[in-house]
Amino acid sequence: MIISGKELANKLKSQMAEFVATLPEKYGRVPHLVVILVGDDPASQTYVKNKGLAAERIGMKSSTIRLAASTTEEELLALIASLNEDDTVDGILVQLPVPKHISEQKVLDAIDKSKDVDGFHPMNMAELWRHKYALVSDNDSYDEMSAFTLPCTPKGCIKMLKAAGVELQGKHAVVLGRSNIVGLPMSKLLLNENATVTICHSGTRNLAAITRSADIIIAAIGKPKFLTSDMVSPGAVVIDVGINRDEEGKLCGDVDFASVEPLCSVISPVPGGVGPMTITCLMENTIEAFLRRMAH
Ligand code: NDP
Repeated sequence: MIISGKELANKLKSQMAEFVATLPEKYGRVPHLVVILVGDDPASQTYVKNKGLAAERIGMKSSTIRLAASTTEEELLALIASLNEDDTVDGILVQLPVPKHISEQKVLDAIDKSKDVDGFHPMNMAELWRHKYALVSDNDSYDEMSAFTLPCTPKGCIKMLKAAGVELQGKHAVVLGRSNIVGLPMSKLLLNENATVTICHSGTRNLAAITRSADIIIAAIGKPKFLTSDMVSPGAVVIDVGINRDEEGKLCGDVDFASVEPLCSVISPVPGGVGPMTITCLMENTIEAFLRRMAH
């Protein structure tokens, strides 16, 4: 079965739109997301545009602040500080990567943790590791939302797995990649769902033997078509997080979809898989940030 992240994302966005439409009556306004883009990286421009479109589609307010690549770290930090203070702003996202003369870490640390809708603030990351059972909610009522922000991509992957009816409890999940934004939080969310998790990285030996022992593989390494059929056992579930270009410049994931798909019980495609779910979870995180702020 091929899980369409795009279809699931559309369904969730429709549900969110209905929910957002009820908010003005109760709170006098809708959630407001501010996205900051520094420089003119084409991929980042596309991501930022898509985030704005998704917010519009669900009826949220979204603002995009485009800054020149020459913007100083000081200027960016001052902008973030003013948005932190602005009561009409619920979510702040700085599109990564930032230009080399700006410290990514300082930028992520500067965003108020209650407005950190990416879930990259050190306090949100710490909360994820501290809470043994910070589960990804699979309902849309927001009455079971997490007390802090879960990072969008791993959250989207868990939602896809749940929507496809994949049982996680007791399963061997192998995560390829250990980045702070995907691999590591992915591993923790799978642990919270009681999977048994192996994390692999560039220093892992006998990778193929490990992936062959997996019930579930999450590929997040950024290498085009890296996971091949000889690395996957029949019946495995494969989620492909990678966004790469192949030799012909075509968008592809970390999984060699053509050879791996016939083996899998469930697999996510690229494009149309994790990508749309990441954006959808960003929207959900913004709604959640809004609701937490309104509750205070
Ligand atoms: P990073 O480059 O930060 O991390 C890559 C990880 O993969 C590292 O932990 C690295 O190991 C590991 N790795 C690299 N080569 C190998 C190898 N040969 N064998 C095993 N492990 C390896 O990438 P990100 O985590 O940010 O992103 C991963 C991919 O996911 C990219 O393609 C990115 O574009 C995509 N992405 C997609 C999103 C979406 O919404 N669909 C969102 C975010 C990312 P080590 O730590 O040892 O260096």
